[in-house]
Amino acid sequence: MAAITNHLPTAELQALDAAHHMHPFTTNNELAAKGARIITRADGVYLTDSEGNHIMDGMAGLWCVNIGYGRGELADVAARQMRELPFYNTFFMTSHAPVIALAAKIAELAPAHLNHVFFAGSGSEANDTNIRMVRTYWTQKGKPSKSIIISRKNAYHGSSVGSGSLGGMTPMHAQGGLPIPDIHHIDQPNWWAEGGSATPEDFGLQRAQELEKAILELGEDRVAAFIAEPIQGAGGVIVPPSTYWPEIQRICDKYEILLIADEVICGFGRTGEWFGSTTVGIKPDIMTIAKGLSSGYQPIGGSIVSDEVAEVMNACEFNHGYTYSGHPVASAVALENLRIMEDESLLDHVRNVAAPALAEMWHGLGDHPMVGETKIVGMMASLALTPDKDSRAKFAADAGTAGYMTRERSFANNLIMRHVYDRMVISPPLIITPEEITEMGKRARTALDESYAQIKEQGLFKAAS
Ligand SMILES: *Cc1c(COP(=O)(O)O)cnc(C)c1O
Repeated sequence: MAAITNHLPTAELQALDAAHHMHPFTTNNELAAKGARIITRADGVYLTDSEGNHIMDGMAGLWCVNIGYGRGELADVAARQMRELPFYNTFFMTSHAPVIALAAKIAELAPAHLNHVFFAGSGSEANDTNIRMVRTYWTQKGKPSKSIIISRKNAYHGSSVGSGSLGGMTPMHAQGGLPIPDIHHIDQPNWWAEGGSATPEDFGLQRAQELEKAILELGEDRVAAFIAEPIQGAGGVIVPPSTYWPEIQRICDKYEILLIADEVICGFGRTGEWFGSTTVGIKPDIMTIAKGLSSGYQPIGGSIVSDEVAEVMNACEFNHGYTYSGHPVASAVALENLRIMEDESLLDHVRNVAAPALAEMWHGLGDHPMVGETKIVGMMASLALTPDKDSRAKFAADAGTAGYMTRERSFANNLIMRHVYDRMVISPPLIITPEEITEMGKRARTALDESYAQIKEQGLFKAAS
């Protein structure tokens, strides 16, 4: 059993957690009754909890720990930077070496036309920046009526008022007066759940053409931008049909609509390229980044901005910024993270080793009686749970019942695999080895077998009528 570094017994930590800590996206009373699992340390792709369990982290934290846990180099860089310059702002016509080096590095890694970075503390903040930036851009260009941003249902762009409005999550909109004005949502390219009898290719085109329809309905003179994740992450790793993105790009070009690619999950190696935009073949005007930028070791995000947009924005004062925009410690840690990714050829590892092994394992789960489609791009994957593969049926039980049961069995087998309604998703650290992927496959199959048995036993293996 590994050393337990916290001094209080688990039950006491859980009681204090329940008494004082309000968890995000959680019904805290339910959690209090059950007790939070206390994570004490982590190394590579494994977490350790306060009971000494070793849990394989199939989610890389929250889609972010791309280089894996336990990289002391990042801790050393952080300590050094804290001693030298723990904080200084970038508002007062001042700058510092870590933010300068990071901005230059990001510009080098990003597609050729994207050379400018506005920093934020998170993905949510960066998308709030994007809302204000695209509207300000069009105002500066003499077209202030172009203020509507089109997004998609079931998209995730963050949890602040602005970014939560961009997102298309109904339960989020139901709380706190979202969305803000001038955000419009079109349907998502989720063929499995919504494609009906159309072929995936036809369906991809139809869903992309909803953007054109929306622009024509709202008026070209009213629309500022379209925002989307190259591959929807939190929505359930929805991989669009191959016809979708080329059509979206055509429409954005035709109507002069700015394209914002939310790369918070897809960026920094997750899809096997530096950016998901490259994987799906689009040319965004702005990319949102966070998560993998620092592998989650420090909170940092930002917007990578095209030369064309930066030229307009740089000519005016943008009355916008965060105390921690370009924080020196976060910047230094992100830079070290990118150095490790390059020096250790992590993208080659993903393309040649990890992603092919993960794809083989993941598609192998497709023969399970409860598994419908299996989808994977690079190191992000999903599978649909279904009571009837042929008709792509949903369960008669409330959406998410089967998914939650499968998630519980997965946690019980020491694998963190998440569910989005009745889709199971994984997004492991990019450094994962083929042996670890094999082990992940065993745990995932056991979880599926156990939840399938429970679901049948409880009479839930039934299709919705
Ligand atoms: C996580 C996420 C965000 C929000 O980032 P935070 O750092 O949690 O604010 C935005 N967009 C996408 C695609 C995400 O996955």
